[in-house]
Amino acid sequence: MRNVDLHLHTTASDGSYTPEELVEKAVGMGLETIAVTDHDTVGGVAPALTAAKEVDLEVIPGVEFTTYVGQEEVHILGYYFDYLDQNFLMELTKLKEARENRGKKIVEKLNKLGLELEWKSVIEVAGSGAVGRPHIARALVNEGYVADVSAAFEDYLGDRGPAYVPKTQLTPQDAIEAINEAGGVAVLAHPGHLSTNELIVEIIEAGIDGIEAYYSGHDEEETKQYIKLANRYDLIITGGSDCHGPKIKEGILLGTVDIPDNVIDNLKVAYRNRYNIESIDFKKYLKVYPETSGLYPEKLQEIGEKYHDKGYLTKEELYELAYLNSTRSSYHVKKNSPDRVKKITEIVYNLADEFSQLTLLTGLLGVGIPTASAILTSLDEASHTVIDTRVWATLYQMGYFDTKKESFSADDYIRIINIVRRLANETDLTTAEIGYALFAYDVEHREGTLH
Ligand SMILES: [Zn+2]
Ligand SMILES: [Zn+2]
Repeated sequence: MRNVDLHLHTTASDGSYTPEELVEKAVGMGLETIAVTDHDTVGGVAPALTAAKEVDLEVIPGVEFTTYVGQEEVHILGYYFDYLDQNFLMELTKLKEARENRGKKIVEKLNKLGLELEWKSVIEVAGSGAVGRPHIARALVNEGYVADVSAAFEDYLGDRGPAYVPKTQLTPQDAIEAINEAGGVAVLAHPGHLSTNELIVEIIEAGIDGIEAYYSGHDEEETKQYIKLANRYDLIITGGSDCHGPKIKEGILLGTVDIPDNVIDNLKVAYRNRYNIESIDFKKYLKVYPETSGLYPEKLQEIGEKYHDKGYLTKEELYELAYLNSTRSSYHVKKNSPDRVKKITEIVYNLADEFSQLTLLTGLLGVGIPTASAILTSLDEASHTVIDTRVWATLYQMGYFDTKKESFSADDYIRIINIVRRLANETDLTTAEIGYALFAYDVEHREGTLH
C-alpha cells in the first residue's frame, strides 16, 4: 500500500489548512503522494509544490471543478494539467468573477430586503478563498440577522429563497475539455454523491478519463461498484479523502482512505498516453547527445560558476545576469530600459526557485533562454534542464504545444520546464537528461538547419 491521497482542499478554497500546513501534515503522516484539488482554483498548487521541495513528498497539481447537469452538482477533478497554462487560468478567472458577481448580486438583493450587509464583511469571511453562499450565510450570522447558517439558507439564500441568484454554470464537458486542453487527466469526483447511475454514464460519455472510486464517503459496496464501472469503460481509478482540514469537517480525513499502489501508476500512464510520450525512447536519444551538440562550452561553465557557486542567486546577481543577457543583443538593449529590467527582476525574484526565476526572467527579456538553461544545467544536472528551441520542437511534435515558437511568451518556457520536470518524475532520468534526449531527438529527426 502506497500512501496516497489525491483529493485535498486548502485555504485557497474552503479548506482550513494552508498549502504549507497540508504538506507538513501529509509528511507527518508518512504520505508519499498528494494532490491539491481546490474548488475552481489552483491558488494552492504552487505554494504546496514549493513547500514539498524541502521534504520527501510528491505533490500533483490538481483542481476540482464545480459543474452542473441541470440542477445537480457534478464535481470534476483534474490532475497533471499545466497549472500555468494561460487559457486554463483564464477559465478559472472567469468562473471566479462570475461567482463574485453572483455574490454581489445576492448581497444587493439582501440589501433590498432591508438587511444591511456589506460586501466587505462577506469578503472578510471568505478570506483568500472563493466567495460562495456559505460565506454570505456566515456573514449574515455574524451580523445577527439569522441564528445559524442553515437558517440563512432557509430564509434567504436557498434555491427558492428571496435572495437567490442563479449561478453561471459549467457543464462536466466544459471542465473535462479545459483540463484535457491544459494537458491534464479529468476524473469524476465522488460518484457516490450523484443521484443516478445514468448520470454517471452520461459523464463517462462526455469523455471523462477516470473515476474516483476510493473515497472517504463511499462504503465498500460503492467502491466495488465504481471500480467495476471504471473497468467496464476502460477508465482509470483514483482515490482521495476530500479532506478540508480540522475546522470544516469532523475529524481530519487526510490519508484515511486506503488506496492501492497502482492508482498513481495508472494516473501517470493516462497522462503519458495523452501525448503518446512512450513513443520516444529517452535513453536511446540520450546516447546520441554527446555527438550532436556542444551545449557545454567552457565559457558557459565559467559564467555559470561565477553566478551559481551557491544554491540560489542573489537579487543583485540575477540582475547582473539579466543585464548580461540583455546586452548580448543590441535589439533587446533598445527594447529594455534599465528600469524595466529592474522591475522584471523584482517580480521574478519572488518566484519559487532559481531556475524558474532565471528562465522567466530571460523569457521576459526575450533573450538567452538556452544560454541561461545551459549555464544552470552545466552546474546542476540533477535539477536543471536545457530549454532550447529543439526541446520545444520535440515537445511540439509530441502534441504538448500548439504555440508556435514565434509567438512564445515567458509562460511557455515555464510550461516546458514543468513538462520536462514531470517527464523526469515519471522516468528514472534527471531533468537534464530528458532535456538532452528531447534535444537530440530533434537533431536526429529534423532535416536542415533550425535557426
Ligand atoms: Zn467535491
Ligand atoms: Zn473536494
